[in-house]
Amino acid sequence: MKGRNAVVTGSTSGIGLAIAEALAARGVNVMLNGFGDAAAIAALRERITSDHGVTVHYHAADMRQPDEIAAMMRAAETAFGSVDILVNNAGIQFVSPIEDFPPGKWEEIIAINLVALFHTIRHALPGMKARGWGRIINIASAHALVASPYKSAYVAAKHGVGGLTKTVALEAATHGVTCNAICPGYVRTALVEKQIPDTAKARGISEEAVVRDVLLAAQPTKQFVTVEQVAALACFLAGDEAASITGTLQAIDGGWSAQ
Ligand code: NAD
Repeated sequence: MKGRNAVVTGSTSGIGLAIAEALAARGVNVMLNGFGDAAAIAALRERITSDHGVTVHYHAADMRQPDEIAAMMRAAETAFGSVDILVNNAGIQFVSPIEDFPPGKWEEIIAINLVALFHTIRHALPGMKARGWGRIINIASAHALVASPYKSAYVAAKHGVGGLTKTVALEAATHGVTCNAICPGYVRTALVEKQIPDTAKARGISEEAVVRDVLLAAQPTKQFVTVEQVAALACFLAGDEAASITGTLQAIDGGWSAQ
């Protein structure tokens, strides 16, 4: 993988950051993306560069804005000469019964968690096809395979990511380009921390009970999935050995979707 070039959306924290770091550790140049404090992001770029000796760029594109996504993909092509690996990871969550779900929040979740992937993929694919090699990895969720109450927009978006993944895989199959989705169970990142109080409110239970009886109750292992485990799977899918894996939804969920 040394010398390949990757764009990882939403890589200023959580799963995306772990994937960016794991790719960098394998010699892949990375374009970071996501929100955050400018000085902290600059420090992150410097740290990944000095730890792994790869080139690290950053683009602030907001995944709700198709024009900014186009600019980010162009900037990556210009800076690196190619985008070989695209990891669509940026995502947000909102927990509410559907009757009270704010329509604006629904649209925002669909925009970031689903529509943005259409835009990054349509910009990345022509170059990948022309070069005869590419890896598209969509960070979906166990919620691409099963549903939970109060997460209508998220579950709809992530199921959509599953369909998009399969379609892109079929369109790219003869060009050396694979497209797969990773479907993590609960990973204790900022996204999960933020939904604990809202889930407690929606279900009328304590936050402690949310972790024990809602989050970890879903996972037979009774363990959170770690960001490092998700990153290792992403790196495998990004490698040459995964050339025959395409159009799949890879569960990494402690057995959740087996139930
Ligand atoms: P996180 O909140 O730690 O990270 C989200 C990242 O996306 C951040 O870098 C943030 O700045 C970025 N982001 C958010 N809105 C953006 C926007 N409009 N434009 C650009 N970047 C934006 O969350 P995480 O848990 O690491 O989630 C990463 C992905 O993994 C998401 O797609 C999420 O749905 C998925 N996922 C998470 C879990 C989990 O339990 N944490 C489980 C399954 C799937």
